[in-house]
Amino acid sequence: MSVLVYAENAGGKFKKSTYEVLSFGYAIAEKIGGSLTVLSIGDVNADELAKLSKYGASKVLNVTNEKLKSFVNMAYAAVISEASIAEDSKVVIMSASFTGKGLAPRVAVKLDAGLVDGAISLPDITNGFTVRKGAFSGKAFADVTLTSDRKVITLMPNSYQVNEHQKDSNIVDFNPTVRDLDFKAMVKEIVRAADKVSLPDAEIVVSGGRGLKGPENWGMIEELANLLGAATACSKPVSDSNWRPHSEHVGQTGIAISPNLYIAIGISGAIQHLAGVSSSKVIVVINKDPEAPFFKAADYGIVGDAFDVVPKLIEAVKEFKAVNA
Ligand SMILES: Cc1cc2nc3c(=O)[nH]c(=O)nc-3n(C[C@H](O)[C@H](O)[C@H](O)COP(=O)(O)OP(=O)(O)OC[C@H]3O[C@@H](n4cnc5c(N)ncnc54)[C@H](O)[C@@H]3O)c2cc1C
Repeated sequence: MSVLVYAENAGGKFKKSTYEVLSFGYAIAEKIGGSLTVLSIGDVNADELAKLSKYGASKVLNVTNEKLKSFVNMAYAAVISEASIAEDSKVVIMSASFTGKGLAPRVAVKLDAGLVDGAISLPDITNGFTVRKGAFSGKAFADVTLTSDRKVITLMPNSYQVNEHQKDSNIVDFNPTVRDLDFKAMVKEIVRAADKVSLPDAEIVVSGGRGLKGPENWGMIEELANLLGAATACSKPVSDSNWRPHSEHVGQTGIAISPNLYIAIGISGAIQHLAGVSSSKVIVVINKDPEAPFFKAADYGIVGDAFDVVPKLIEAVKEFKAVNA
């Protein structure tokens, strides 16, 4: 019996979250006494595919069909389901990325499988198969027991450590059934912000709120983010006012993220904002109001004016980098 992991790529390169999913899948395979099979779809070169063996893949199924070069939700879901049946994989895992969130329910329906979306730790298999996930916008945990024969899991980015387990992977071509029916809705073009760190995958996020007064003051947020190798984010009113793009809006109605470090600058910490960021590992809040609710959720807080504190922080990071270069 194998565990099947869908190895998502961006522009032909596997993402860090893909290696997290592989490490998670390998650990599950070990637990249930199976092996790890990885499915790659699209334009990924041999060097990139070879990297998968470092993370415990015994077998890599490579789909190179011309029609499947770019992501098509329904078609990819059909390929993953077909691969899972061909490999007799009882557990199918993918990242809880935008792509994974769209694919997983479709795959679950096709396989008649139970689904856990947004797992944060390995399943407990002592009495069944129980997976923990965040619930109520990160305010609680839900332990979900999957009783179906087949199981589909998406893994929250940054919630499982990447571990290496070198294997001699067998890379084989997989030729799935390609049906016109699955190409009814197609993405015509994907424009990537090439020089920016992807927000859902980022390990560090620097985020700004209405306390920054206007879009002209985002230079210091971007400078700090660049120095830290971080992605930038913002509160809802900031994107609603078109100070920043909607793709940066985090919270209940925006993106939910779980970076290792979230730096919130001039953000009050409204419950709807916290809903999307409270599962960050470390939260740093910079706010001039000592009563700002965000301080209650913070691991570290600086009470001060962002226009004094952030430039000093930038200088301190530059000095630190110069000394440690
Ligand atoms: C249904 C619903 C869904 C929502 N979804 C979301 C969501 O997904 N995400 C989200 O963010 N919001 C969401 N909101 C809005 C949310 O309720 C808050 O209104 C919003 O998060 C406030 O944004 P803010 O903290 O940037 O602005 P404000 O509430 O105006 O807070 C600005 C903060 O900046 C501080 N400040 C001011 N000047 C400075 C300075 N110079 N230096 C340092 N600090 C300073 C202030 O003390 C204050 O704490 C939602 C609301 C509703 C009703």
